[in-house]
Amino acid sequence: MSYLSKKYDLHCHSTASDGELSPDELMRHAAANGVQAIALTDHDVTDGLKPAALAAAELGLELISGVEISASWGKHLIHIVGLNFDIDNVALQQGLAGLREQRGVRAEKMAQRLQKKAGIENALEGAQRYSKGRILSRTHFAQFLCREGHVKSLQSAFDRYLGDGKPAYIKSEWRPLEDAVGWITGAGGVAVIAHPARYKLSATKLRALIEDFKAAGGTGIEVVSGSQNKNDSRNIAEYARRYELMASVGSDYHGPSQSWLKMEAIPPLPADCVPIWQSWGEVKAVEGMA
Ligand code: AMP
Ligand code: MN
Ligand code: MN
Ligand code: MN
Repeated sequence: MSYLSKKYDLHCHSTASDGELSPDELMRHAAANGVQAIALTDHDVTDGLKPAALAAAELGLELISGVEISASWGKHLIHIVGLNFDIDNVALQQGLAGLREQRGVRAEKMAQRLQKKAGIENALEGAQRYSKGRILSRTHFAQFLCREGHVKSLQSAFDRYLGDGKPAYIKSEWRPLEDAVGWITGAGGVAVIAHPARYKLSATKLRALIEDFKAAGGTGIEVVSGSQNKNDSRNIAEYARRYELMASVGSDYHGPSQSWLKMEAIPPLPADCVPIWQSWGEVKAVEGMA
């Protein structure tokens, strides 16, 4: 008899960062799509977790605390997912608050670039209309550019203006990878390299990233991700085995406008991977915390 695990989704976004569904709506969407255990992993913020916990409890959905931290590794921007940590940990929350401040500064520079290089006025105010006072992401700039008719799609906003090396791309120095991993483990959680195939690293570089990540106290890697294809999964599963990293799975769902991405269609982890949820004896309560 093969052991069938619960359906886990350990990477997704709500309106607390750049997702389209509120934490409550996201939990309902996940439950309706067969997910049984979920981590809400908003960018650099954990504000969505408490409202998500209320909804998850009603739905009988297991909620694991989560966050996706923007970190620098050399000149690369790497996303580190933190799972099953104490959400009230002071050092973690101070770290995240610093990143959100940096996002504000970066957003002002992005708006200046859009004005100077493309003649697009008032982009900061425009992006803020979509972020609604919460964290400011490039996604909100893309929504502004798209809805105001400057580009035809969110993707072309990144291709023309916001992507790495494009006119409104601001090279931002996030805190080093080691700090992000340290905040997560210091709060009793586990750190996971998010969507490793997205960084387009050479094999040598990916090995170096994994070695640095492990040395910093990192535990896992996303083997299955909505941001990676099947070949990527096979390749990353091999790295997970070779480097004894536990495997994580997540949709990276941001909302219905990603019409090609279905939470229910995310495949389970390959059988020979060690699932990251085996690292936690019990799930840390989100709603019980002050
Ligand atoms: P930020 O964290 O503010 O730098 O924004 C990064 C976010 O933008 C990612 O989490 C994605 O949600 C989104 N994103 C990045 N690249 C693209 C792309 N090429 N097309 C659409 N969305 C993207
Ligand atoms: Mn995002
Ligand atoms: Mn990411
Ligand atoms: Mn993500």
